Amino acid sequence: MTVRDLKPACVWQIFDEITKVPRPSGKLDKIREWLVNFAKAHQLEYKVDEVGNVAMFRPASPGYEKAKAVVLQGHMDMVAEKSATSNHNFDTDPIETIVDGEWVRANNTTLGADDGMGLAIALAAITDPDIKCGAMEALATVDEETGLTGASNIKADMLRGDYLLNLDSEDDGVITVGCAGGLVSIFKFNYKPVEAPKDLQYFKISFSKFHGGHSGTDIDKGFASATKLMSRLLVTLSKKLDRCELACIDSGNLHNALAFNAVAVIGINPADKEKLAVEFNQFVADVKNEYRNTEKNEELVIESVDAPETIIDSDTARRVIYAVFAAPHGVSSMSMEIKGLVETSTNLASIKMREGNQIVVEAFSRSAVESRKEELVKQIETVFELAGADEILNEGAYEGWEPRMDSKLLALAVESWEKLYGVKPVVEAIHAGLECGLFLKAAPHMEMISYGPTLQDVHSPQERCHIPAVQKGWDFTVELLKEIAAM
Ligand SMILES: [Zn+2]
Repeated sequence: MTVRDLKPACVWQIFDEITKVPRPSGKLDKIREWLVNFAKAHQLEYKVDEVGNVAMFRPASPGYEKAKAVVLQGHMDMVAEKSATSNHNFDTDPIETIVDGEWVRANNTTLGADDGMGLAIALAAITDPDIKCGAMEALATVDEETGLTGASNIKADMLRGDYLLNLDSEDDGVITVGCAGGLVSIFKFNYKPVEAPKDLQYFKISFSKFHGGHSGTDIDKGFASATKLMSRLLVTLSKKLDRCELACIDSGNLHNALAFNAVAVIGINPADKEKLAVEFNQFVADVKNEYRNTEKNEELVIESVDAPETIIDSDTARRVIYAVFAAPHGVSSMSMEIKGLVETSTNLASIKMREGNQIVVEAFSRSAVESRKEELVKQIETVFELAGADEILNEGAYEGWEPRMDSKLLALAVESWEKLYGVKPVVEAIHAGLECGLFLKAAPHMEMISYGPTLQDVHSPQERCHIPAVQKGWDFTVELLKEIAAM
């Protein structure tokens, strides 16, 4: 049994062909050429834009010229991950697919059903003569996995439709109708290294093994931020102790991850040693109590260390620590459109000492509502402005997709799913990024949904695709196109 024997044959056979073309993110010439040849072979008009996105266009079926035009979209790149034992070369080798019971997986590599399966469904639909509907487009974007490059640079002429079906979701029976945009804020402070006073006693404070997690989808799960906690402890100590100098600090890691560790070295008056112990123990007890339901393995340790050569000048250290403590972190608003969905949040991610005597703080803000994201970003910036940050930068901004529960497309999708499977689909939005928000920027009039057959462990060599869900996803796509055509 190979994937070519699976049903629906039209989808699996295209998937099989896509899978044979190397397409790791950033190296998409081969798959682009394959897509262009596919369009030519099926006599479809096509267009390749400046960044390499490929669109294919099919005119309306006779009699459906007035029907809404639909864009079916997926991304052409895939995450290239393999297990330690694999000799696979993602630049040259085809993915080896294996039918394993109800699942298709690869041989110790990612399968690339994310998003090869989305593309296969789009291409099967646009070449299916039995689907009678309005104008149709199949759109393949570049480098979704490495920064949404294709979607970020898309122009309106690549989006010829009223409705867009994004085929890059991974749960059968779930229709996604919104996502969050994001923006990284970077704050730089120049500090003066000062010779470490010999009359102080030095201590290293380490936080480790906090849960951490995704800075978007886990922001409302009640996990701690080691970065926020470290600033809180240091502010407390600076107020309670006669003197508390900061020699170094290193907290958190990636901007899109909750900080699970932090280290700082401080210098205090030896006479305050007892006070330090009392304050530290109280702090640990408070943290253990506050996070008793979510954090299980955290370690908070203080130990005496030798004097370092230098410390950070007191003024800069104070401004950095106070700003991190004062700046918002966590959920800032919930969606009024979808119950339980985080609308706006920020992750105060990291404090790092960099070459050139700089301290760099990073925060990552997200919102489905662009203006809310801007508000939150300004609020954080204001705190760091007051703290006299030497440089304030933004990086990697992308737009969100605000859920619209009154969307006509959504109503048709829910109806189609219910008609086919007798149950209502789950309608949800995610507090993370999808390409749809960026399409909306280029084509604000479009209505969109995102769905796709069940994939598990994507981005890992265990990635697998649920065979029955592909049939369901395909049937749903055909039914939805029919419903849209009949509007
Ligand atoms: Zn994807």
